[in-house]
Amino acid sequence: MCSPIPHYLTRILDAVKDEDEGDVADYIPALAETDPARLGLAVCTTTGRCYAVGDSDPFSLQSISKPFTYALALDEWGFDAVSAAVGVEPSGDAFNELSLEEDGRPMNPMINAGAIAINQLINGAGSSVEERIDKIVTFFSRLAGRALRVNKDIAGSELDTADRNFALAHMLHSFGIVEDDPHDAVVTYVHQCAVEVTVVDLAVMAATLASGGIQPVTGERVIGRDAARIALSVMATAGMYDFAGRWMTQVGIPAKSGVSGGLIGTLPGRLGIASFSPRLDPTGTSVRGRKAFATMSKQFDLHLLTGTNYRVPGVRSIVERDGQTIITLQGWVNFTVAEEISSTLLRYTPTPSRVVLDVSRVTGFNTIGRQVVKEQLRRIREEGATVSLYDPEDRITDMEYSDGTHMDEVDEL
Ligand code: GLN
Repeated sequence: MCSPIPHYLTRILDAVKDEDEGDVADYIPALAETDPARLGLAVCTTTGRCYAVGDSDPFSLQSISKPFTYALALDEWGFDAVSAAVGVEPSGDAFNELSLEEDGRPMNPMINAGAIAINQLINGAGSSVEERIDKIVTFFSRLAGRALRVNKDIAGSELDTADRNFALAHMLHSFGIVEDDPHDAVVTYVHQCAVEVTVVDLAVMAATLASGGIQPVTGERVIGRDAARIALSVMATAGMYDFAGRWMTQVGIPAKSGVSGGLIGTLPGRLGIASFSPRLDPTGTSVRGRKAFATMSKQFDLHLLTGTNYRVPGVRSIVERDGQTIITLQGWVNFTVAEEISSTLLRYTPTPSRVVLDVSRVTGFNTIGRQVVKEQLRRIREEGATVSLYDPEDRITDMEYSDGTHMDEVDEL
């Protein structure tokens, strides 16, 4: 028996495979020679299961590298220091626009100006080119869960045609945003763009952002929680450059494109998605990738801002037994789920006056979820009911109520 998920992914590829609009990036031979028919799609869950269909050969990351290098810089220096070099506002400009704010800061790390400035933060000013590249490739490899490498041909020919990126690096240098040699800045930046990945690598990397920085297959924390959140936020608002608004309305999955034809999407807490198809639209985004994401968003109901409620109800069952009410909770208890639990508890107390809260099926509580549930229990007890907890997996780590008293526990139900 095998999973039906690849079947659904294949259906997405089938829906886009005849689309032949757009052109393969032709500014360097290594990209111009790519077979335009290549087409691949992968998803990886935040629980570490990956599925892939179609083309599984490597291609270069290009601009998809940008949110990840940004996350690395955030982990290395913190948000305030990184913000002093690069802002977080969407520019609405094309990826290679020569746009800087009045103080010389690039608008965001997704456009080339910002990405070059971020690249130069890695390993600090004064770093050698080799060490900086090494640090970035090692980080990308931990994200993918395997050793990645730079395609030297691509990096080399990128350098031969990098006039615009050199112009950006010199502008950044003139403002003191790039401190090291501007030529070297472009050298490390093109190496960052020339790291080769497959769609599966990309789906896992995107899923790492989705799970707050924990690589879901290896289980390793590769990005700090705050850095992952900030990188994903900027990806959501600026990742698709001058297509960002249309992308959010039509697809609704924070995404990042690259001129080699790769495209990643991240659904926080849920999925990493990646596609590869080299024909590009005028904004430098894969035409079939765009279509695959739009189709998936619709068919799989993935739009982040849709009203669809995929939340598991917090209360699994309410059973009256031997004069007591047993309320069984389930799933992940955050603020919204805790509110639902609290309103249910209000309805069921204080008659009968003995309540047992079974949290053995709860996956976990976040801080506010735990606080709200505990506070509701304390109030029920204040009304005169007996309240106890069945918590064999120690989901509620802190058994103290806000008034300093402690929760009662039962050992079995
Ligand atoms: N290497 C490309 C550049 O810097 C990456 C751009 C992109 O993928 N949008 O121009």
